Amino acid sequence: AYAVTGATGHLGRLVIADLLTRGVPAGDIVAVARTEAKAADLAGRGVEVRQGDYSLPETLPAALAGVGRLLLISGDEPGRRPAQHAAVIEAARAGGVERIVYTGILRAATSANPLAPDHKATEETLAASGVPYTLLRNGWYTENYTDQLDGYLQRGEILGAAGSGRVSAAPRADYAAAAATALTGDGHDGAVYELGGPAFTLGELAATVTEVTGTKVVYRDLSPAEYADALRRSGLDAGTAAFVASLDESIARGDLETTTGDLTRLLGRPVTSLDEAVRNARP
Ligand code: NDP
Repeated sequence: AYAVTGATGHLGRLVIADLLTRGVPAGDIVAVARTEAKAADLAGRGVEVRQGDYSLPETLPAALAGVGRLLLISGDEPGRRPAQHAAVIEAARAGGVERIVYTGILRAATSANPLAPDHKATEETLAASGVPYTLLRNGWYTENYTDQLDGYLQRGEILGAAGSGRVSAAPRADYAAAAATALTGDGHDGAVYELGGPAFTLGELAATVTEVTGTKVVYRDLSPAEYADALRRSGLDAGTAAFVASLDESIARGDLETTTGDLTRLLGRPVTSLDEAVRNARP
């Protein structure tokens, strides 16, 4: 069976939908959910739902029993993830899982992105585990931007501190399809995929939003401190605002750009363009 952790999250749901679409029987899919109740719809489609919490190692052996291939979707608690993911990897090893596919971040081992250390630590745990594994080093989700489309249109501007840094973003659905391929296909053991779509600057994002919606939107580049201030004024707490600004500094350095073409190859088709992603997000 194929197991997907984080199955109740955005990416996990898309992966399960993709597996079903490509003909994997629902009965061969295990949805590992921290909160089983959130997976009622998946159970309704015949997927086997099992409770598993990265922070409760005692839940994990039963969650992974009989699983052949596991997609470990990274958790959402920075700093706690190395220990959480290590617990999943240990349960997978002990339970005889044959391949672990892990979603990380571009160039996790060397990136200065503030989210990279958690992924680097997890990659090291995987390497030490002895279980064959595949690294999906995901770039940014296009949704990080398109989810803010209403605000962009209302203000007529996109604020950021990314300078002329380029982001190789792709919609979650494309990363999900790549994950389903890496999970179900052969020849992926030991592979390290640097995944992302066609790169754009935030200025190009603003131009695309303008072109697609007919509403003029400009990119206003701020210093990281100014950007953090603006985020605070819009309601973020100081710590989160500074963190979000530091992510734009990471873009400015080029940490979130990739030109490998790995995502296109895994998909067997072009990555969804920014233009199309903005079109799909239009109100
Ligand atoms: P979501 O926040 O939608 O989903 C995260 C999933 O992880 C949820 O299903 C959540 O469970 C599950 N999870 C979190 N903690 C635990 C735990 N302790 N035990 C079991 N499950 C847990 O994120 P996405 O699906 O959009 O993205 C997947 C991952 O990608 C994120 O968790 C994060 O690591 C990373 N990410 C990447 C981004 C990018 O731009 N590339 C942007 C944002 C995140 P529950 O449903 O119960 O909350």
